[in-house]
This record gives sequence, structure tokens and C-alpha cells, in this order.
Amino acid sequence: MQKRELLYEGKAKRLFLTDDDNLVISEFKDDLTAFNGEKKSSEAGKGALNNKISTELFKLLESKGVPTHFVEMLDDNHMLHKYVDVILIEVIVRNVATGSLSRNLGIEDGKVLPFTLVEFDYKNDALGDPKLNDQHCLILELVDSVDELDQLRAMARQVNDILRPYFFEKGLNLVDFKLEFGKDGDGNIILADEISPDNCRFWDTKTGEKMDKDRFRQGMGGLKVAYEEVLKRILNDNDKKPEESTYEAMMDRALGTK
Ligand code: 5GP
Repeated sequence: MQKRELLYEGKAKRLFLTDDDNLVISEFKDDLTAFNGEKKSSEAGKGALNNKISTELFKLLESKGVPTHFVEMLDDNHMLHKYVDVILIEVIVRNVATGSLSRNLGIEDGKVLPFTLVEFDYKNDALGDPKLNDQHCLILELVDSVDELDQLRAMARQVNDILRPYFFEKGLNLVDFKLEFGKDGDGNIILADEISPDNCRFWDTKTGEKMDKDRFRQGMGGLKVAYEEVLKRILNDNDKKPEESTYEAMMDRALGTK
């Protein structure tokens, strides 16, 4: 499939048309941005790592029945996927308090939440991605109905229910992440964008080490090594089934329910 005209350039990806109106190609860039584009850098190889990690995770989610825009990885930096009308809501899923949740509400950093929190942010750089409630989403016409918001929440929880134990078995605590969705040609809501350490927080379960973009946000260095380690753990254990008992034991310990 050939890349044609550039359709859109975002902070981490370029989107290209193809000969097929229903398919587009994302090019994963090495650029890094944080704090709404105020902090900028670049890390050679970061785009390829995110493309590979996202490819594996989209395949996993598809195999578990989550509809996604993923079609195939074309080469190191390019992914072929379905064209979607992007829903301008960033769906944030949180298992552990940190980042803006701790900052805004004073919840202790690292506290395991009593249940998984799903929040909506407005995907709008000019406004700094503010928080949205259901009424804001309807007033802004970001979706057609509350049912669609419920669908976003349900799909986000389904993704978390698959990925959290999957990563736990690989020694990574899926702390929180951001998902984006879109509507395909038939109007169905499907998972879009990417799932990578750029938009997920992973903490090593043994050492607590941050294995994600917080290394760049917090000026810690070692970003590429961390992303490589995330990919390595995904690829090494891809066939291994999550042992739910171990995961549940971890949750019981964390929540003090046993
Ligand atoms: P927080 O709201 O604490 O900054 O972020 C919560 C989670 O969502 C983190 O995993 C973070 O990576 C992700 N996230 C939230 N907003 C954005 C965004 O605009 N871009 C990216 N790449 N990730 C985001």
C-alpha cells in the first residue's frame, strides 16, 4: 500500500492518504513533546518502538474482541489502519493515582484506586485538553448521545481488563493510559490512535521504575532503553497466558482485601 498526500501532522505521527478511501497510513515520528507541546525533543528509534508496541497490543485486543482501526504494520515506522472520524475525547483510564489526578485532587501518588477510574479530556491543544463531563461532551457535540459515552467507558474498561493482567504478568504495573476512539465508515465506534509508552504509564512491579514517557516529562533520561524493555517483555511472553490468580493476589495485597 503506497503513501499518498499528507492528511494531517500531529505531535507524534503523520497521517497519509492511500489509494483506498477507507485506509490510511500513520508514520510514527521520533519527536517527543510534553506539557502541551512546551517541552520538545527527539529520540532516534522511538517511533519504531511505539509502532511495534502498538501493533502487538492492537493484535492482542482484536483477538479478545475489541474492534480497532489496526490493519497491519507496514515497516518499522508505518502502520496501515482504517480511516476513522476521530472522536475528540481523550479517554483516560486510571488504576493508580499519579500525574494530574494526584496534582488536581491531592490523592497520594502511587495509591491504588479502589476501582478503575475512567475520565474524559477534551482533545484540544489550544485549550490545554481540559476535563469534560458528560454534559460538556453533549454540548460540544463530541458524540451523538450519552449511549455513545457509555460505549466509550465500556470499551475503555474492556481494554483495561485485558491489558492490566497482561502487563502484570510481564512485571509491569499498568498505572494509567489514554485511549482515542473514532467512527469507521459504518458509524461504529472503534479504538484508534496508538497504545504505547507515550500514552501509558508502566511501572516495573519489582523496582517501581518508570518505563514510559514520564522519563522524558521528568527529565530522567533512559527513555529508549525503557521503551525497548517494554517491547522485549511484550514479545518474549506473547504466548504466555496471564495467570489470573497471581494478578488477583497482587490486587488483594494492594487493596488490602485479603
Ligand atoms: P495525566 O492526566 O496524569 O497527565 O495522564 C494520564 C495518562 O494519560 C498518562 O498515561 C498519560 O500518558 C496519558 N495522557 C493524557 N493526556 C495525554 C496526551 O495529551 N498525550 C499523551 N501522549 N498521553 C496523554
